[in-house]
Amino acid sequence: MLFLELARVFEKVEGTTKRLEMFEILSSFFKKVSRTEIDETVYFSQEKLVPSFKGIEFNMAEKMVERAIAKASGRKISEVEKLYKKKGDLGLVAEQFLVRKQKTLIPSRKLSITEVYEKLMKIAMVGGAGSVERKIGMLNGLLTHLSSIEARYVVRFVLGRMRLGIGDPTIMDSLSKAVSGDRMKLRPEIERAYNLCSDLALVASTLFKKGVKSLRKFKVQVGSPIRMALAERLPNAKDIIKKIGKCAVETKYDGFRLQIHKKKKGNKIEIFSRNQEQMTHMFPDIIAALKKQIKAESFIIEGEAVGYNEEADELFPFQVTITRKRKHKVKEKAQKLPVVLFSFDILYLNGNDLTQKPYHERGSLLKKIIRKGFVIRLAEKIVTKDPEKLEKFFEENISRGTEGIIAKRLDSGYQAGARNFNWIKLKRSYKSELKDTIDVVIVGYFKGRGKRVKFGIGALLGTVYDKKKDEFKTIARIGSGLSEKKWVEIRKILDKIKVKKKHARVDSLIKADIWCIPKYVFTIKADEITKSPMHTAGKKKNEPGYALRFPRIQGWIRDKKEDDSTTVKEIEKLFRMQKHVSTRFRIKNK
Ligand code: ATP
Repeated sequence: MLFLELARVFEKVEGTTKRLEMFEILSSFFKKVSRTEIDETVYFSQEKLVPSFKGIEFNMAEKMVERAIAKASGRKISEVEKLYKKKGDLGLVAEQFLVRKQKTLIPSRKLSITEVYEKLMKIAMVGGAGSVERKIGMLNGLLTHLSSIEARYVVRFVLGRMRLGIGDPTIMDSLSKAVSGDRMKLRPEIERAYNLCSDLALVASTLFKKGVKSLRKFKVQVGSPIRMALAERLPNAKDIIKKIGKCAVETKYDGFRLQIHKKKKGNKIEIFSRNQEQMTHMFPDIIAALKKQIKAESFIIEGEAVGYNEEADELFPFQVTITRKRKHKVKEKAQKLPVVLFSFDILYLNGNDLTQKPYHERGSLLKKIIRKGFVIRLAEKIVTKDPEKLEKFFEENISRGTEGIIAKRLDSGYQAGARNFNWIKLKRSYKSELKDTIDVVIVGYFKGRGKRVKFGIGALLGTVYDKKKDEFKTIARIGSGLSEKKWVEIRKILDKIKVKKKHARVDSLIKADIWCIPKYVFTIKADEITKSPMHTAGKKKNEPGYALRFPRIQGWIRDKKEDDSTTVKEIEKLFRMQKHVSTRFRIKNK
């Protein structure tokens, strides 16, 4: 299949404002594409060359791409820069400048999806001395073989700014429809396999080449991150025991969730984030400790890494721990800010997949393989069926400054990628008004007024995720919580993913001044969830939607994907919990 056809599909996707249309366009293309090219097509649709856990990046700055465009089109760098300033998108610059050239230079044979993919892969793999010039030369070579519309998407792809925002759920629905004729028929199987390997292109090519039966055989593999199990919420200890009975109650630490894989072959250890990204290079101290403290040939364990304050002998808050997330000066930072890993689960041990084993068995295996030491520890826990004991453990944790507790069903397996009542979190926040945070996806922004005019941004339009519809529904207009410098920074970041119209996966009654693709997640604190006819989150025909009262941003862009943000369903639950708490409070005070 020609890459040109894929580029035309992306153009159609870019043009639609309806999520269903986007899905139809994609599924009919998947149906046509050959079995050997479906994996590359899926990677292109995900806007990545390989899954994030493989850690391969283009490492091409804008300036390098500008030079490649100039060379390929025979223009001066200054001309490229000038048009870029005007258009704000190097993809469009390449498209415009290559139109004329194309007529004279383009050879009659056009490139296939695989050929373009392979050339891009080669560019990404070039490293070391002289790599800047070689990368520019190779991109120039590729661009001279492309038509203008192909160049638009290749340039955007290299810069990581395709601005399509198709999203994994839409791709999974489209794959199901392409193979079975129905959007939902194969979706559970596709999703299960994806949850286990975090590589959607691998899932797609297995489905296309070997059929759905092979998908069912997907197993956990050391080296491929498993999408993490997540926790539901309940408002108090009593409700937790009522729901899951006797359970393990663990301290809820506030740091980085890590999934650590060790292969038997070569004793290779890799660390992945909550988002399946490579974090191995960030934690040399954890790797050294694992080698000393864990007795096993191969394993996959999970835990929370938290900064440790040696002087005060206590854990640092998240804002301090996060400073360990860096690419440079990693060793120096690790010495200044050591971390402790509180391990709480084991998913694989010495060749055996443990995800189907009950929690309590996994827990004893984990305990057995950890040698006592400073860095790797077991998460603190109790096992109880008594709500009072649970409550006491919770209070103790709160007074020690942790976030709260997570209660875990003793007989449950590890359900990759699922948020359900196998794990239930209880945080300090549910005990008063809404203090729990909400993760919103930014879909646009409003230009500033008054003092903010000079920043060009005054507020963000925040949404929560409607899983069933695969849409983002508005819940708040957020205008506080960032410093002046950060407002400018976020505007620049959002401008790089801005789109002309509201994105197809966004449902909004409010009109943002600038729309962008749903990509970045912010944690928001608010005083209360209220009802509002202006917002689409939870809005039904004659009922208003939900809104956040006094929303303010906490921290900075989160390491969560857009479809990992808070869902409309969770908002509904939090709204009910909030009512529940306030009624109890009133009764008590009567
Ligand atoms: P989520 O990860 O559930 O989407 P979130 O990132 O906002 O949401 P929380 O809702 O605060 O985080 O709680 C879940 C997170 O708590 C886990 O993802 C994990 O990082 C962390 N955590 C800390 N201690 C534990 C523990 N003992 N067991 C499981 N998770 C824990």
